[in-house]
Amino acid sequence: MDLLTVEALDRPIGDDEVRALLPGLGPDRTLLGGGTWLFSVPQPHLRGLVDLTAAGWTPLTADPDGLTVAATATLAQLADLDPAGFPQWPALPLLAGCAEALVGSRKVWHVATVGGNVCLALPAGPMITMAAALDGVAVVWDAAGAERREPVVDLVAGPQRTTLAAGELLRAVHLPAAALRGRTALRKASLSALGRSAVLLAGRRDPDGGFTLAVTAALPRPAVLRYPDLPDAGSLAADLDALADTHGGWYADPHGTPQWRHAMTRHLAEEIRTELR
Ligand SMILES: Cc1cc2nc3c(=O)[nH]c(=O)nc-3n(C[C@H](O)[C@H](O)[C@H](O)COP(=O)(O)OP(=O)(O)OC[C@H]3O[C@@H](n4cnc5c(N)ncnc54)[C@H](O)[C@@H]3O)c2cc1C
Repeated sequence: MDLLTVEALDRPIGDDEVRALLPGLGPDRTLLGGGTWLFSVPQPHLRGLVDLTAAGWTPLTADPDGLTVAATATLAQLADLDPAGFPQWPALPLLAGCAEALVGSRKVWHVATVGGNVCLALPAGPMITMAAALDGVAVVWDAAGAERREPVVDLVAGPQRTTLAAGELLRAVHLPAAALRGRTALRKASLSALGRSAVLLAGRRDPDGGFTLAVTAALPRPAVLRYPDLPDAGSLAADLDALADTHGGWYADPHGTPQWRHAMTRHLAEEIRTELR
């Protein structure tokens, strides 16, 4: 939809121009990724947008430390990364799996950005799931020109809430090589075949046996369970049950009841545990 209150659109090119605009961000002037959410609901408080899509950031950068995903990388670019080019990183198919968990047309995939998905901080944000399962670290720029790093699982504080302060921008998500060396499994539950995720779980088994499970969509904010080896079914189920106390209860919205989300989380987590045995 048209955002009729927006009077100014900046389209910075390059890091310096982006940084120069950060001090001006606030409640009435915000960052624009792909706009698939920003232009989908009225934003009467907005007067200005800072469009990041001309910043010129390389979408995906692989080096021995891991994979850096620019905030402006689109879901399509993530889905199109060919895992065959990186045999040392068996976790890579999880990227496409998570992109596909956002049930949108190719048109949406081609504009929706990783940064927009993380910073929107919906419980069903699949880029949050991906980052949580792969120990993803957010690279954040602030208005004073400094950079800080924070695990994505901590950056997302609740539905549409992040730890980003006014003037801060998500520059990239770094996926460390150690996590990319794991095998992964993904499970999703929705009330309808093409529905939004009500439960989205991603598991990872490391070469040393370590097991990580990211629990998203079923809780208001992402949770990560970590084990030095594969837990037994009972321990995993008990740890999942305990998440309700630590993570604000099982989530309730039109996409699923808390009771159903809890039951499906237990069921799908056990499927992942079995698959990664
Ligand atoms: C058919 C359809 C299905 C969808 N399904 C899902 C779904 O399953 N799960 C889900 O989570 N969403 C879903 N969405 C919502 C939305 O499309 C996605 O979350 C998308 O990834 C948002 O990315 P974007 O780049 O379009 O964000 P934008 O709309 O551009 O921005 C979203 C928010 O993030 C902020 N932002 C953007 N980039 C940055 C940055 N680099 N640093 C700081 N803040 C930033 C913006 O200011 C804004 O507040 C769906 C949308 C459609 C149309």
